[in-house]
This record gives sequence, C-alpha cells and structure tokens, in this order.
Amino acid sequence: MFDALTSSFTSALKKLRFSDDTKALVKALDELKKSLLKADVHHKVVKDLLALVEADTKAAGIGKESFMRAIRTHLEALLTAPGRQGFVYAPSGVTTILMMGLQGSGKTTTTGKLANYLKTRNKKVLVAAADLQRMAAVEQLRQIATSIEVDIYYDETQKDPVAVALAAQKKAKEGLYDVLIIDTAGRLAIDEALMQELASVKKALNPFEVFYVADSLTGQAGVNTAATFHEKIGIDGVILSKYDGDGKGGVALGIASQVGVPLRFIGSGEKMPDLEIFIAGRIVSRLMGEGDIEGLAEKTSAIIDEKQAKKITQKIKKGQFNFLDFLEQLEAIKKMGNFKSMLGMIPGMSGMSQALKDVDLENSGEIKQIKAMINSMTPKERMDPEVLNNSRKQRIAKGAGLSQIEVNRVIKQFGNAAKMAKRFSGKNGMKDLQNMMSQMGSPTNRMGR
Ligand code: GDP
Repeated sequence: MFDALTSSFTSALKKLRFSDDTKALVKALDELKKSLLKADVHHKVVKDLLALVEADTKAAGIGKESFMRAIRTHLEALLTAPGRQGFVYAPSGVTTILMMGLQGSGKTTTTGKLANYLKTRNKKVLVAAADLQRMAAVEQLRQIATSIEVDIYYDETQKDPVAVALAAQKKAKEGLYDVLIIDTAGRLAIDEALMQELASVKKALNPFEVFYVADSLTGQAGVNTAATFHEKIGIDGVILSKYDGDGKGGVALGIASQVGVPLRFIGSGEKMPDLEIFIAGRIVSRLMGEGDIEGLAEKTSAIIDEKQAKKITQKIKKGQFNFLDFLEQLEAIKKMGNFKSMLGMIPGMSGMSQALKDVDLENSGEIKQIKAMINSMTPKERMDPEVLNNSRKQRIAKGAGLSQIEVNRVIKQFGNAAKMAKRFSGKNGMKDLQNMMSQMGSPTNRMGR
C-alpha cells in the first residue's frame, strides 16, 4: 500500500546528493511534502513532520544520512501513540476483546484473523457473533470459525447483542477460554443508534480492550471516524485492514497521531494468516524500502515449527526428502498467507512485490495439482520417488486427472526443490541463498516481469 510513498521517499532522498546544501534540503523537503499530501496525510500532520525533519537535519549537518535519520525518527514518533503493543492478555480470567468498525471495514474478517493469530500461539479462543445488523455476518463468522477450527458462540433467535455478548462471556468463563473476541455490528456510516448499541455492549461486558478496525482505503475520512468512535465509546487499539490494497497510506500515518490510539495490528490480505503485529520501526523500514526482516522471521516462526524444521533439514542432508515433505513445505508456504506482502519485508525486494502483484500462490492451481498427484501415489511412491517408472506415472496421471506431461513437470519441480533444499542446508547455504536473491533482483530475471 505504501508503494507510492516509498518511491517518492526514495526520490526525495535522491535530491540530497551534496552535504551542507540548504537548497538541496528545501527540494527534498518539498518532495516529501508533496508525497505525504498526495497520500492523504492531514496537512497539519505534514507541516509538523516537515518542521521536525528540517530542524533535525540542519542540527546534524545537512546530508543524506542525517535527513534519513530525521525522517525515520519522526515517522516512528508519528506512528506511535501511548498504549499497548500487539496482543496483551488480561492479568486473570478471560481476555475479552470487543471488535468495532464500520460495515465493510473488514471487522468480521479481522475477528477471524485475530482468533487465528492467537490459535497459532496455542491459545484457547472463542469468537462470538454479536453483529445482528448485517444479515450474513453470523453465517460469515461461522464459516470463518470452522475454517480456522476455532469455537464460536452465536444465537440466531436472539435479537439483543448485549444478551449474545453476555452469554458468550459466560460460555468463555465456564469453558476456561483464554480469549473471547466479539464481533459487533457496524453501519455504513456512524449514527446515534449504532453508537448507543455499542456503548451498551461495552458497558455490560466490561471488555479488557476495544479494537477498532479501520479500512486503509478510507483516507482522512477514516481517521475522523476512528476519532468519533474513540470520543463516543473509547477504543484501546486500532487494527488497520486492507493494508495490501492501493490505499494511499494517509490513514496509517494519521491515526496514531490524530486519534491518539496505538495501531496494534495490520491486515494485509483476505486470508486468515494475513495479520501481523504493528511495530512502528518496522513499518518505517518498509516505508523507506529497507525491508523488515524481523517481521518476516516472526511470521514464519509461528508457522514453521522448529522441531519439524530440524527434522526436514536432517532428511534433506541425508537425501531422504520425499513427496510428503515436499507437500508439507508447500502447505507451510501457503499458510504464511499473502506472498506479495511478505516479499515487501525482504530488504531490496519491495519493487519485486509490485511486479508480483498478480501471483497468488494458493489459487495458482499448482498446489492443487501437486496435492492431487501425491494423493494418487502409493505410500511407497510417496516415500521413495526413485521408484516412479513410466507405468506408475501413467497410473498416477490417470488417478489425479492430469496429463503425463503435468505429472512429469511436478516430478521435475520436486527434484529441483530437493536439490535446492540440499544446497541451502549445506555449509555455503547462506551464500548460495544470497546469490540466488541477487540474481532474482537483476533486471534480466523473468520473475521481475
Ligand atoms: P465487515 O462488514 O466490517 O465485517 O467486513 P468484512 O469482514 O465482511 O470484510 C469486507 C471485505 O473486505 C471482505 O471482502 C474481506 O475479504 C475484505 N477484507 C478484509 N480485510 C482485508 C484485508 O486486510 N485485505 C484485503 N485485501 N481485503 C480484506
């Protein structure tokens, strides 16, 4: 989402070739101002930010370094509001979270994502459907809960959201759940009836925290709505949804400073794993095109179990990597969610993530083919790819509904993956990986197109 901002930051930096040149600084600041305003950041916020960046850069001696450092410091400050970070558990009992937001903001999806986030961290989670306004909201949450295997409380005969919320809280206490996340009603725009309903749910429930879901695509209007929710009901954190979209970034840069509530998570795709913890420094790194290795590591570590990883590495080293391992690896990649948003976290790869806009690993059909093929194999074939002769391949192709060419292609892919895995698990693994990365970044590479 920050693609446009990131490229204008880079071009602002380019204006600063010489040190100690006030004229260059004025130009760079002007470039920065234009890009921030274009990103729909409030003009007062822009003005304050620029003044601070200018003062700091001058004080440290004008140059690229000092300019960068000043932007970094003040963007981080802008994105930081007093309050908690990430997910915090109540000191005792069930941690009850109320989710709020306008209709269409991504509230129900985010309720699922948050439940999934906690579930992958081994928490016992209950979600509750107290959005009784939008017809399909209960069913939507039910489907989401089923897909992530999280328990849900709902009562379709009940018309009163307060009653639903209280019953869910009772169930959560009795069932010794760690966390209860309640999806509440939204509206297309703020109205008095909605505010009263949400205020009464909050009062009856006394939740540990209220999370407000803000749609990144809404610009300055979104900041104002969040401010109204905070004023009328009181919110403790903001989750920014649709961060993967073509939003201009203004909401992200405005919410913390203008509403005074910390950003806690960002949603970066439609799938359940597409939620990450919000940490200002990391976002600034990404914004400045420097990548976010820590974020990437965190995202992968929740999914790749360390023991499992060790087991696989051992197998690879011994040349025992088989089709089942291959499928497992592919599934793990799929679980990480939005591939494009992850690329942006790798230093120097933000341009690439733009180029890969249309690649969707999960829906490419490829994993489906591979799965179908492996399902058509005998256990022996899965464990020992060497035994695959022509008649076996024919049988597998038939069973999986694929052509023999497709089967051969998957076998070749598997062979490459096994080879590649072996290479990276060796002594020179890191070096090889770096080489591969630099090749991927070169303009002659096909993936860049
Ligand atoms: P609600 O009315 O606030 O409960 O909104 P929903 O949860 O139904 O979401 C509205 C739409 O936004 C759905 O199509 C979601 O798939 C989509 N959505 C939610 N979060 C994200 C996100 O982080 N990225 C993208 N691309 N789409 C999202």
